[in-house]
Amino acid sequence: MLKIRFPDGAIRSFELYSTPFQIASSISQGLARNIISAEFNGKKIETSTKLNEDGDLKFFTWEDKQGKEAFWHSSAHLLAQVLEELYDGIKLTIGPAISNGFYYDVDFGNKTMSEKDFSKIENRMIEIARNQHEFKFRSVSKKKAIDFYSKNNNQYKVELIENLEDGKITFCDHDNFTDLCKGGHIPHTGLIKAVKLTSVAGAYWRGDQNNTQLTRVYGISFPKQKQLTDHLNFLEEAKKRDHRKLGKELELFTFSSTVGQGLPLWLPKGAELRERLESFLKKAQKKSGYQQVISPHIGNKELYTKSGHYQKYGESSFQPILTPADGEEFLLKPMNCPHHCEIYNSKQWSYKELPVRYAEFGTVYRYEQSGELHGLTRVRGFTQDDAHIFCTEEQLNDEFKNVIDLVLYVFNSLGFENFTAQVSLRDTKNKDKYIGSDSSWEEAEKAIINATKEKGLKYKIEYGEAAFYGPKLDFMVKDALGREWQLGTIQVDYNLPERFELSYVDQNNSSKRPVMIHRAPFGSMERFIAILIEHTGGNLPLWLTSNQVTLIPVGEKHKKYTEKVFKLLENNEIRATVDMRNETVGKKIRESELKKVPFMLIIGDEEKKNKIFSIREHGGNDLGKMEINDFIKYILDKTKKTLKEF
Ligand SMILES: [Zn+2]
Ligand SMILES: [Zn+2]
Repeated sequence: MLKIRFPDGAIRSFELYSTPFQIASSISQGLARNIISAEFNGKKIETSTKLNEDGDLKFFTWEDKQGKEAFWHSSAHLLAQVLEELYDGIKLTIGPAISNGFYYDVDFGNKTMSEKDFSKIENRMIEIARNQHEFKFRSVSKKKAIDFYSKNNNQYKVELIENLEDGKITFCDHDNFTDLCKGGHIPHTGLIKAVKLTSVAGAYWRGDQNNTQLTRVYGISFPKQKQLTDHLNFLEEAKKRDHRKLGKELELFTFSSTVGQGLPLWLPKGAELRERLESFLKKAQKKSGYQQVISPHIGNKELYTKSGHYQKYGESSFQPILTPADGEEFLLKPMNCPHHCEIYNSKQWSYKELPVRYAEFGTVYRYEQSGELHGLTRVRGFTQDDAHIFCTEEQLNDEFKNVIDLVLYVFNSLGFENFTAQVSLRDTKNKDKYIGSDSSWEEAEKAIINATKEKGLKYKIEYGEAAFYGPKLDFMVKDALGREWQLGTIQVDYNLPERFELSYVDQNNSSKRPVMIHRAPFGSMERFIAILIEHTGGNLPLWLTSNQVTLIPVGEKHKKYTEKVFKLLENNEIRATVDMRNETVGKKIRESELKKVPFMLIIGDEEKKNKIFSIREHGGNDLGKMEINDFIKYILDKTKKTLKEF
């Protein structure tokens, strides 16, 4: 008999040589229908693998990351089969699953293939898939494996096999096709119902420029046709909402290779937008008892040796800045925390004065490889809406609740409605991985969980996901396209108070260590604005958007009067611009729409005479005619609705 343990901890016995599929069938038919791959003792296996020892078994469906991986890995086999069939004499190399589909690297020799061939290949893949060929996995000796590929003159596969250990070489067969493979397939080809090849690109064998250039064919596949249609729509929508594209159209930010990669330059409209976000948060923070502090952009290397950042990240980040004087070394600030610890240390504290909450929009610099840089989401310099709270252990629960309120206020004001909280605790089986006493950890974890519950948040607990220095609470936000982002983090820290010897005097006049909380509702201003742009498609909340109204005079003779209306709006703190260009009204409206301006006010003869204006809303909605004072009231009311007081 086999003793099988499931992820929920349940242990059950099964006949020796039972397969994951049989085990799933004995649990429920629904499960058996849905599982497409499995893992045994941490290793990828087939659903048809005969189990011959006790162990931990996990099932995966299409909904799991591992299920998708098996699905796409199997689809790569299918793609390779069709390529070999359609392009005689080509040589297959490697074809893995990736986070969003799969690819295969092929040496096409003197044959050519292009995007024009995609539909022919896709159709043939589906045609073969329909026959429900099983993926059969088998071991093969090194000699036989090399013979198999030598016959086809495939030096690439031979090279791969030569680097493998005899006895650990496996092939996978389906239909009339065989490939060298490490395993992890779906049961049969029939599950693949929709395929789309997405692009072709050049790739060097083993990623080395000195090697032969191969052709990389990318694709994605799904168990249902509708999922492919949805995916293509998603890609289209994501392209339209790309913050790099919209950031340019809305004139928010730019990059310059002369300034340096990954260093955003904020244009006037972008700078104003950031200022509005900053003052919005500063106002709420002030009400919550935070105090603003300011710290420099560089710090002595000693500071980061003391904090431990240098030992951990120093080698792989920006290198120290040297001065003309000997022995002086400074680092670009990678984090604000050490600076804030030193600000705390500038005086002696009594328990009566805690908590102390220091906030700073602090710009930090972190080295990212150039290939990792992406718009505003991965940059080398960014500004955190950082704050550090120094408090007693008894104050942790209240402080957490206050920070949760602040984070929720940020989400509500900016239209993020779909989020969950993740509580990251330590792994109690590996206590020596963490610093801080048992009792402190227990207290802090309790404080976080209770605060999360008391605030009525939907949350899940992840064991072993805490930082080595303390437990944390993260917010996972779903954007309008269903993508999940981590936004807003609250972390307890036992490490820095120790390293910086932070203290306060308690009721009994003895010296105590405060607990430190790091928190940042936006996280990074750059990344947050990028996500906000993509979430809203550039239609930012009315209180935040750069230009709330465009004034469009119908003709030359209306310009003077338009200026007057502009002044009136400006006096009411409504952000407006006037489009004075000699273009048609239609063109001006279209361009204003492109710039995502919420309202357009068209001014002609009749309007001038009666002080009544034709108002159009973004998206083509005609609001009809309104008196100017009514319009001002309308827009101010609407702004207030999108931004409530904290
Ligand atoms: Zn395979
Ligand atoms: Zn910090």
